[in-house]
Amino acid sequence: MRKPFIAGNWKMNTDSAGAVALAAGLAKELSSVDTVDVAVCPPFVYLQSVAAALSASNVALGSQNVYFEEKGAFTGEISCAMLKDTSCAYAIIGHSERRHVMGETDAMINKKISAAISGGLLPIFCVGELLEDRQGGTTNEVVASQIKNGLEGICAESVQAVTVAYEPVWAIGTGLTATPEQAQEVHAMIRGLLTELYGNEIAQAIRIQYGGSAKPSNTAELMAQPDVDGLLVGGASLKVEDFAAMIKTIA
Ligand code: PEP
Repeated sequence: MRKPFIAGNWKMNTDSAGAVALAAGLAKELSSVDTVDVAVCPPFVYLQSVAAALSASNVALGSQNVYFEEKGAFTGEISCAMLKDTSCAYAIIGHSERRHVMGETDAMINKKISAAISGGLLPIFCVGELLEDRQGGTTNEVVASQIKNGLEGICAESVQAVTVAYEPVWAIGTGLTATPEQAQEVHAMIRGLLTELYGNEIAQAIRIQYGGSAKPSNTAELMAQPDVDGLLVGGASLKVEDFAAMIKTIA
């Protein structure tokens, strides 16, 4: 039985006081929730203050990105060890904005996943098709290729650290949500592929989140799908009441 996992991606939002207030509000609201794993992923510069606000709560901390090298001349990048040092448990890797705005490739994402696992972080590995892929009928092909390339060389033991997040790019931040059936179809395809790659037992244990305009009003129907094990939430994770409502719906 997979424990539901909901993560909030704050993207490039909040400020110092707002980030702490959001974290403290969630810590308080969710103090009695223990049937759902919850994480928030603030901007790098607020990780430490958010970590302090979340200490002794059941909300974990994650980063929105990570670099695959250990240290050195990589201006502007953040290592796994630095993230561990700020109490991060998770790292979002391969978010569509990293892929399509910052130009990250499958090869870079693969190196990041590998470095994160070796460095003791739990990757939230994002995949998802563009609108033109969906309209052209190549969704499964595109997502399958992202999964295979992203997990290349990751062994069966290591892959158990990974959460996959299926995020159709056309649904992220647009207000358009995949229907529960569309989400389930791709999630089932991903689980089938994980079964081919790693066997049934491991594939059944890996959590697959849906992301793309998830909000309180569509949480229950998305989570009712057998292969939807959680949500990666952008906009709706920026308000305590919305994010907490989604988690309580799942709990
Ligand atoms: C995301 O950033 O991963 C996301 C799903 O954003 P939103 O919920 O705003 O669509």
